[in-house]
Amino acid sequence: MPRPVQNSNEVGVSRSGSDAPGFTAAFSPITAARKTYQTMYVTKPRLFFDHALQNHFAVPSFNVCNLEMARAVIVAAESEDAPVMLQSYFGDLYYGGLDVLPPLLRLLAEQARVPVLVHQDHPDKDDLILQTLRRGYYSVMYDGGHLPLEDNIKGAAYIAKIAHAMGAAVEAELGLFGGGEGSHARVEKASADESRRLVEETGIDTLAPAVGSVHGGSSRLDLPLLEAIAGVTPGALVLHGGSGIHPDDLREALQLNVVKVNIGADVFRTWVAGLQEGASLKPRGEEPPHHVMMNHASAKVSEVARRKLSLMGASGQANPLRQKLQEQRADLLATSGPLPV
Ligand SMILES: [Zn+2]
Repeated sequence: MPRPVQNSNEVGVSRSGSDAPGFTAAFSPITAARKTYQTMYVTKPRLFFDHALQNHFAVPSFNVCNLEMARAVIVAAESEDAPVMLQSYFGDLYYGGLDVLPPLLRLLAEQARVPVLVHQDHPDKDDLILQTLRRGYYSVMYDGGHLPLEDNIKGAAYIAKIAHAMGAAVEAELGLFGGGEGSHARVEKASADESRRLVEETGIDTLAPAVGSVHGGSSRLDLPLLEAIAGVTPGALVLHGGSGIHPDDLREALQLNVVKVNIGADVFRTWVAGLQEGASLKPRGEEPPHHVMMNHASAKVSEVARRKLSLMGASGQANPLRQKLQEQRADLLATSGPLPV
């Protein structure tokens, strides 16, 4: 918690860092304390992704919809001293509550010992992107992989302008990962040339090209295609359907600019199996059975999350990233241009 002003000597101390010049306030000590505290809720997504890119590791982005799953992931990240991402697709947001889940994730992130970037994953409509930006998400997804390329470019560029003005990073999708419904049911690989166009013509920060991984299914990556895409697109790449990607392919992908890997199925399958197992356990002492069940499921989710963090090389990266986040001021806000009309 921010500490209160202790004595009159602290009143009127100039604020440092990113504060407006000439602004002095009695609140300086509180602000200083808060800066360190809030670093863990990452508000500098470009710096976050750049650090992973430069150090050839990826951050797993776990789909979570409630307190227990989110906390289990953060506990795992703290155990690994790794930065981590929590993400919510539209079903998570409607389940958890659009006015409940975002502040819950933020609170958990602020109290974490490792940097946590919160991401909006697969919106059901573009409005949801703006709703999550307003609720403090610093990374959002424009879901246009099913659209003709020109429409995907137009939509991603529009969202990128708005998100950058709010300091948030934008991920766009090219091709389709399958495993969903309707237009998201089929698998369609991305091409290197279209990947280059989508990145260059939109200003997006991360690109999720379909290169063989499948939502909810096991897969081998098309590594030559991923290499071709990495060769022609500047910046960071994302893989969806990360739960089932062969570990050898994931390790290769770390050398091909992949900085974020979505993990959904492994979290919810582990959670459900953990609850079922936990329901048959005998309570220890006075522990209520529902606590036994949820603690058991949480521990299982933490185990899975730890393995993913380690596999992707994120272990041990929390501290160097935290220092960068604290020291550097510039991020997306410094580069945003005029808003679209
Ligand atoms: Zn996805």
